[in-house]
Amino acid sequence: MKKELIAGNWKMNGSLAGNEALVKALLAGLPAQPCEVAVCVPALYLAQLQALVAGSPIELGAQDVSMHESGAYTGELSAAMLREFGVRYAIVGHSERRQYHGETDQLVAAKAKTALASGVTPIVCVGETLAQREAGKTEEVVKRQLAAVIHTNGHCISEIVVAYEPVWAIGTGKTASPEQAQQVHAVLRAQLKAASAQAERIRILYGGSMNAANAAQLLSQPDIDGGLIGGASLKAQDFLSIIAAAL
Ligand code: PEP
Repeated sequence: MKKELIAGNWKMNGSLAGNEALVKALLAGLPAQPCEVAVCVPALYLAQLQALVAGSPIELGAQDVSMHESGAYTGELSAAMLREFGVRYAIVGHSERRQYHGETDQLVAAKAKTALASGVTPIVCVGETLAQREAGKTEEVVKRQLAAVIHTNGHCISEIVVAYEPVWAIGTGKTASPEQAQQVHAVLRAQLKAASAQAERIRILYGGSMNAANAAQLLSQPDIDGGLIGGASLKAQDFLSIIAAAL
């Protein structure tokens, strides 16, 4: 059976001292048999985090990865470099990168492919804006975003993690109801099933203002296999409560 994955997305937050305190509090509070847990941290802190989580159940994640393997791409970080720092997961196609950095479906798909080739599991984010939801386009948007990744990655698709993150729910305190989230997750699952015989093992995370109070209900939905957590992953007690809800 697949293990649920609770991944924290620290975004552009943290400091050497703050990271150490947060990770120590997480390690002290983790249950004996946790679900899978990861923290996706700013790249500059990967070396620090690699040391802090060594030998613990916490996996390391990055928030982005280059679509290129190496070369003249100033400012980019390759998947192979991430691997050297023990990175297991890389978020690709987060809505903040699609919105502020102009990332297209094709670029996101290429990033997923390069990550997979280097042994980094991409957490591929898809999700609609409020305007798209209100226009009845939720399904069309998430299917288009996922289709690009399926098209580029072929049978390797069974190795990815998908995160459904409605843009209107990210950092806003508005959460999709468990039914709204499940409905979209079921659509994504069906699309994955059409592309891969292994689709049942692909984890589809929900992200968007998941917190200690709403996690259990969201995680009890049949096609929700974990969470991608922004704000609540920065507070040890909140993140630990979400982890406990996933047991
Ligand atoms: C995110 O950034 O991926 C996210 C889900 O953020 P938040 O939990 O703060 O809505």
